[in-house]
Amino acid sequence: MRTSQFPLSTVKEIPADAEIASHKLMIRAGLIRKLAAGVYTWLPLGLRVLRKVEHIVRAEMNKAGGLEVLMPALQPAELWQETGRWEKYGPELARLKDRHDREFCLGPTHEEIITDLARHELKSYKQLPITYYQIQSKFRDEIRPRFGVMRSREFIMKDAYSFHLDQESLQATYDVMYQAYTNIFNRFGLKFRAVIADSGSIGGAVSHEFHVLAESGEDAIAFSTTSDYAANVEKAEALTPEGTRAEPTQSKTLVDTPNQHSIEDVSGFFKVDATQCLKTLIVRGENDSLVALLLRGDHELNPIKAEKIDGVLSPLQFASDEEILGACNCKPGSIGPIGLSIKIVADRGVTLMSDFICGANQDGKHYQGVNWQRDLELPDHIADLRMVVEGDPSPDGKGQITIARGIEVGHIFQLGTKYSEAMNAAIVNEAGKNQIMIMGCYGIGISRVVAAAIEQGHDERGIIWPNELAPFQVAICPMNMHKSDRLIDTVDNIYKDLTDAGIEVLLDDRKVRAGFMFSDMELIGIPHRIVIGDRGLDSGTVEYQGRMDKESQNVEFGNLVSFIK
Ligand code: ATP
Ligand code: MG
Ligand code: MG
Ligand code: MG
Repeated sequence: MRTSQFPLSTVKEIPADAEIASHKLMIRAGLIRKLAAGVYTWLPLGLRVLRKVEHIVRAEMNKAGGLEVLMPALQPAELWQETGRWEKYGPELARLKDRHDREFCLGPTHEEIITDLARHELKSYKQLPITYYQIQSKFRDEIRPRFGVMRSREFIMKDAYSFHLDQESLQATYDVMYQAYTNIFNRFGLKFRAVIADSGSIGGAVSHEFHVLAESGEDAIAFSTTSDYAANVEKAEALTPEGTRAEPTQSKTLVDTPNQHSIEDVSGFFKVDATQCLKTLIVRGENDSLVALLLRGDHELNPIKAEKIDGVLSPLQFASDEEILGACNCKPGSIGPIGLSIKIVADRGVTLMSDFICGANQDGKHYQGVNWQRDLELPDHIADLRMVVEGDPSPDGKGQITIARGIEVGHIFQLGTKYSEAMNAAIVNEAGKNQIMIMGCYGIGISRVVAAAIEQGHDERGIIWPNELAPFQVAICPMNMHKSDRLIDTVDNIYKDLTDAGIEVLLDDRKVRAGFMFSDMELIGIPHRIVIGDRGLDSGTVEYQGRMDKESQNVEFGNLVSFIK
């Protein structure tokens, strides 16, 4: 490619909403453009990277025996009603109606659709085990879309689903997928870690997440320095000083209980000093639909919990690292008693502190005297109760816990019969009897991987792609090419030699200063740069510099291909 035919869309301006390096760099390097909150267009340069991620994932899925399908984004509500997720999924599910008033959603995941497919297509045990996969757009109305394509509302996922007759078969495929994921993240050239995970709203018992290690990661992962133990901190088990696991205790809500009544309107907000808070914080209304959020020791806000709220909590606002502002708004017509209490909950549900914030009386008016706006003081002893922290003994008894930050790029689950039972996805077994199938599911955030790779590979000058994901491997920067026919010929030859050797080359044929070319090529992260000018023609050499190299070196024309490969 030549920049005359493949124009670069690099920009100087950093968008105001870009908080982390990958988001800033993806805009500046011209990989993506924002259309709306959490909705992005992939520009030609970005799409080349995205396609590489897809290509590697597809190759490894095929190798693992997956069969590629393509399912619709538009999904009928009936299937989601069969599994009960139409009600349970909450506001993250993008719902819509067609012209006949029939309800649909834009799929955030495809368990219902694949289970429907399987119950119609699969008839005999002889067809099992089987794994379907697709690479397709997902829609999640994230409570707080941010970090560009890292947490967007429309994104591309590879999702795979496997069907089995027994647990042994599921475990075997799960192991194959685990290995395929390991191969995929190795091929990307990224530092990653597989950890024990919580299965969240997808459900199931056994589950692992794959995390790309990066300081900006939203998740904390705990792993043992001397054994294989690794878990998402959400799931990691803290040991008491005596070495036993702390027992969860049931927490109680402290809300007053006015008589049952219909609420006209309740709203209020609360403010907490987050510097003191070491725990997950949950704000809960007496009516369970009001359950809110969040917060981790190191001021890390964890919106995952907030996503599970049932349509009545307005997006939480974060004023600064030191304080959280939350707002609640009850829909008119909600059934009371309604009230909002705040609870500080330690790991595994131990309530540390509970306080009543607001409520409504019979006619839906606010409680008299209710303090709608106040600071909450957190008790001192909170600091003593903690989640797994650095230096804790590892739950497997081997070694100590180290904590690192990670970006969740993949997640695999043993679903069991959660979906197949609800949707009656059965197959005729060897004994001629109908038997409900057992399922597994396996996701990779294709678009998130691109951002995660940049989080792991960048410096003050721009992106540093791993070779396998780079949009081009080599940038050729000719000096004043338009002034020299001799140079034009040589550059054309080098371009052809490299291209013929299967190397992807971006030839900068713009009439711009050398410094301008260099900073663009560094910004977009091309791993190898070749500079060639009239002087090099006489000596038959180019100036080569790797993206991470401090200095350039001369390489002879004839050796270029082998040097770069
Ligand atoms: P997160 O904890 O980050 O919200 P999740 O656990 O909800 O992710 P899964 O349901 O496990 O996500 O989906 C599989 C994969 O899809 C995730 O591991 C992640 O890589 C990707 N993914 C999920 N949500 C988003 C999003 N909003 N934007 C981009 N990628 C996403
Ligand atoms: Mg999520
Ligand atoms: Mg998650
Ligand atoms: Mg997940």
